[in-house]
Amino acid sequence: MNDTNIYSLEYAKTLDKQDELHAYRDEFYTKEGVIYFDGNSLGLLSKRAEKSVKMVMNAWKDNAIEAWTQTDNPWYYLSESLGEKMAPLVGANAKEVVVTGSTTVNLHQLVATFYKPQESRTKILADELNFPSDIYALKSQLQLKGYSANDHLIQVKSRDGHTINEEDIIAAMTDEIAIIVLPSVLYRSGQILDMERLTDAAHKHGIIIGFDLCHSIGAIPHKLDEWGVDFAFWCNYKHLNAGPGSLGGLYVNEKHFGENPGLAGWFSSDKEKQFDMKHELIPATDAGAFQIGTPHVLSAAPLIGSLEMFREAGIERIRTKSLKLTDYLLNLISKELQGYGFVVGTPLSEEQRGAHVFIEHEEAARICKALKADGVIPDFRAPNGIRLAPVALYNSFEEIFITITKLKKIMDDKRYKNYSNNRGVVA
Ligand SMILES: *Cc1c(COP(=O)(O)O)cnc(C)c1O
Repeated sequence: MNDTNIYSLEYAKTLDKQDELHAYRDEFYTKEGVIYFDGNSLGLLSKRAEKSVKMVMNAWKDNAIEAWTQTDNPWYYLSESLGEKMAPLVGANAKEVVVTGSTTVNLHQLVATFYKPQESRTKILADELNFPSDIYALKSQLQLKGYSANDHLIQVKSRDGHTINEEDIIAAMTDEIAIIVLPSVLYRSGQILDMERLTDAAHKHGIIIGFDLCHSIGAIPHKLDEWGVDFAFWCNYKHLNAGPGSLGGLYVNEKHFGENPGLAGWFSSDKEKQFDMKHELIPATDAGAFQIGTPHVLSAAPLIGSLEMFREAGIERIRTKSLKLTDYLLNLISKELQGYGFVVGTPLSEEQRGAHVFIEHEEAARICKALKADGVIPDFRAPNGIRLAPVALYNSFEEIFITITKLKKIMDDKRYKNYSNNRGVVA
């Protein structure tokens, strides 16, 4: 096939025809005339997720309190049963994963559990590009232990403003570090950190290490057990399409089973003992121990249907398609958007590239507004970033082609100048 073909609508359509996962698009509520490239912020609703919400609503309607134990997906065991279904997505065994809390709450729980400052080993290592909530949580955990975040939170610097060099992280693993918390995929540039290598290095230095999987869960395969990662946590409303504010997830390596939860509650209990209502907690002997209170059943419900699709589609196939989508997008950007002032911040190599593409432009906020007016939903990240997330289960190559065509036209017509260059309240 020659070059002109590759950059044509026909070529995009050919790629869609060859796509094994194309049928999943019909499982989602997409909107006619709207190209949704924001699934890494809030995944779309699927028909199966909607169905599982209705199922839970009906169980509540029909069985009320009895549904805690007597329904298709008994609520009392829902966090554990969903954890079992998620385990293959992170490369864990069923007992190591539980669906509970939220990203930030689970981070608090895991740091409260595994951060044990001793003698001169008192500091937390993170990076300077992580999501603010993670950093706020780490700072408050330090303060709770009586340390100042100013000198106890070490944030590895970025050399280029987009990525973190793994050598720099490893160089910061000193004898003063008690625990390391890093993202699997950086939320802006989409860089994947080599979790295996970093875990190995951390353990050589006697340091516990955990990862925030928000931008990799449901998009990229993980092998947390094989890599020996100590703990991980994530949200389920991005690539896993479990709905706004849906229940999150956490992983604790089985070598840490028996560790007391730093933040205990009655759902930390051994499930057989929980309703003895004793004032001495007997924690679950698996990752279930890191739950706190009653699971938010209505916010877990969409995951029941959504995870079915991930099991069928398979995370390896999802990753393969996702890389093809971002490859195609990056190719079109470099071919069609030369000379318009865009800078690509996403690592180009497949090993380092997550599931979205990040481009910068000084007019990013108003360019995003012009794209929205033209039926493309991107994701603006202040001050000057545009994230485009073509999602394997519901986006197409054709949509990528159309988006870049529209974006080029917006730049040529300078249509973005019709908008103000500042962000909305939620961006
Ligand atoms: C989305 C995201 C969060 C959000 O945390 P919540 O507790 O779910 O609000 C936190 N960290 C990272 C890296 C994220 O991408």
